[in-house]
Amino acid sequence: MGRFDTERKELIEVLRGKGITDETVLTAMSRVERHLFVDPMYINKAYDDNALPIGSQQTISQPFTVAFMTQALKLNKDMKVLEIGTGSGYQAAVLAMIGCRVFTIERHISLLNNARKIFDGLNLRIVAKGGDGTIGWTEHAPYDAIIVTAGAPNVPDSLVNQLKEGGRLAIPVGGRDAQQLVIGTMTNGILEKQIVEGFKFVPLIGKNGWN
Ligand code: SAM
Repeated sequence: MGRFDTERKELIEVLRGKGITDETVLTAMSRVERHLFVDPMYINKAYDDNALPIGSQQTISQPFTVAFMTQALKLNKDMKVLEIGTGSGYQAAVLAMIGCRVFTIERHISLLNNARKIFDGLNLRIVAKGGDGTIGWTEHAPYDAIIVTAGAPNVPDSLVNQLKEGGRLAIPVGGRDAQQLVIGTMTNGILEKQIVEGFKFVPLIGKNGWN
């Protein structure tokens, strides 16, 4: 048994209890060691269902939020996914564990470098770059799914335009302090939206985000 295996199993049961049903997501989260992605200061809290500080005034998202957003994307192996807001790298690692080809963008270079080291150590299929993710990453578009892990003032057209037909988008939209989760599906060239209330993310800062 590895360190924190019991805690990780317990977290998966907590996520089931909160309504996560997608076994693909639960299996991936049971395999990604969240304690590798948190600040060593908080290692004993790594499997609590809470967000935690990761430096640069940013956070690793709450496991329930990671599970909920990932489930909303309805992913399969080999799908191409763009993540905006690499942060600790945990969400990207969960996507890669599902078997997706992951592209991720982070605006804080220190966070990006830290996440890259973890990705390399785990041999995960993730391509990460520094920069403003609100403009997307046209070079690898179109994507089967786009996940934005910071709160935006609205849904950027730049990201919608990089989705495949049938592709899915999950993005928190609202004020700087609280947001709704917008889950979109590209249907006949138009993004059909579903709204889920009650999310709280750090702000998405960039050309098509907050100033
Ligand atoms: N997905 C992350 C994880 O698993 O740890 C959580 C990320 S944290 C809630 C949001 C991240 O989005 C922060 O690291 C922040 O620096 C980043 N961010 C904010 N605006 C951004 C932008 N325009 N482009 C790229 N990253 C951005």
